[in-house]
Amino acid sequence: MALPYLLYYLWETSGQGPLDTWAGLSARAVLCYHVFMERRVEQARRFDHVLVHYGEVGLKGQNRPRFEKALIDNIARALSGLHIKAVRKLYGRLLVDLAPESPWEEVRDRLGRVCGVVNFSPAHRVEATLEDIEAAVDEAIAPHTFESFRVQTKRADKTFPLKSPDLNAHIGTRIQAATGAAVDLSDAAELTVVIEIVSGTALVACGRQLGPGGLPVGIAGRVVCMLSGGIDSPVAAYYMLKRGCQVDFVHFHSYPYTDRASVDKVVEIARLLTRFQYRATIALVPFAEVQQRIVAETPAPLRIILYRRFMVRIAEAITRQDGASALVTGESLGQVSSQTLANLSTIEAAATTPIFRPLIGMDKQEIISIARAIGTYEVSIQPHDDCCSFLMPNRPATRSTLEQLEAAEAPLDVDGLVSMALEGAETEKLVWP
Ligand code: ATP
Ligand code: MG
Repeated sequence: MALPYLLYYLWETSGQGPLDTWAGLSARAVLCYHVFMERRVEQARRFDHVLVHYGEVGLKGQNRPRFEKALIDNIARALSGLHIKAVRKLYGRLLVDLAPESPWEEVRDRLGRVCGVVNFSPAHRVEATLEDIEAAVDEAIAPHTFESFRVQTKRADKTFPLKSPDLNAHIGTRIQAATGAAVDLSDAAELTVVIEIVSGTALVACGRQLGPGGLPVGIAGRVVCMLSGGIDSPVAAYYMLKRGCQVDFVHFHSYPYTDRASVDKVVEIARLLTRFQYRATIALVPFAEVQQRIVAETPAPLRIILYRRFMVRIAEAITRQDGASALVTGESLGQVSSQTLANLSTIEAAATTPIFRPLIGMDKQEIISIARAIGTYEVSIQPHDDCCSFLMPNRPATRSTLEQLEAAEAPLDVDGLVSMALEGAETEKLVWP
């Protein structure tokens, strides 16, 4: 940045007349370009706050301060490194105080993944006078092009002289006169200008973005999600994150019988999900020897159910080590043979820890649309060697009974196999940002 000024200074002090040398001309051109770019950057983001609304967090009665604190802490963590000056509470909303160098696109992406945030908007904070509000509205709408708009005022501070409908009408008339856009009070309006007046301060916001909603991660406790590398289990994990759970992961692999890239792919999915919770662990559990024992000792149609029962036993042990309270899977009723009602209950009988299946009533298209929205879909559909397609039976049973499974497991050293798998597990810590 200093170079154009240096050139300009050298030219000015060289005793040359204006614009009569090549150096003079080029120095002036470079300076003009830089001044122009600086103005553009300034114009690109004049607002210095983000107004954050939360929904369910606000309904928690006596626990409300605890939920609000968790949300504030999570927002501060999510935005760390982005020069945020403060995140504070303001009458049932939160206000993020940006520095001039805070990069808005990055702030927007990260806030959009903070569970508990319902929506947020760039905001101008001014004194609650009509003049200042008018000026802030002019600035706020400047970057937008729109054919229809509406103004929504909320007045927590009743000392402001105009009532909300009167301020809406006044500001609306001004915007109409300046832009020619039409007033549309419905949700179809292309731009909504929000004015919130709280204790002597007015916040003027537009350009609302949606957050995930739900509850702040961590507030509900800890669970362990069985993460497979497919489309479903990352979505199941996301639903638990949204209900305020910290989610750790366990993945079973058949490496070295399957390739290492498949394990790396699952770690990548866990990393993507860590963007919603800042910290997570993934336990990578070798499963090939367990599978080989099952294949050698038990009837082929029951294999998949037996694999799952061992996975659940091992994951339950990891859940205990982790201090977590429940297991989570991406199962959805009837999607594949191991997910019939009969098989889900015989799998579940192998554990005493509760097993949550947030996708149980969802169909594949619904699951895929969430996977796309949370950014895991593209990784999930990459080719993958699943440990269960290795040593897969031709005709898996759709209706198993507990007696059948217990008889099939009789020749196996169940505890020994579980301990062996646990001993081979490697745990990776994931941190974001
Ligand atoms: P996904 O898309 O999550 O792979 P799916 O529809 O393919 O699910 P299955 O492969 O039958 O269904 O797996 C059912 C659930 O069991 C998965 O959602 C996951 O929670 C768990 N699971 C399956 N394989 C593994 C694995 N290798 N490691 C960890 N969990 C697994
Ligand atoms: Mg799968």
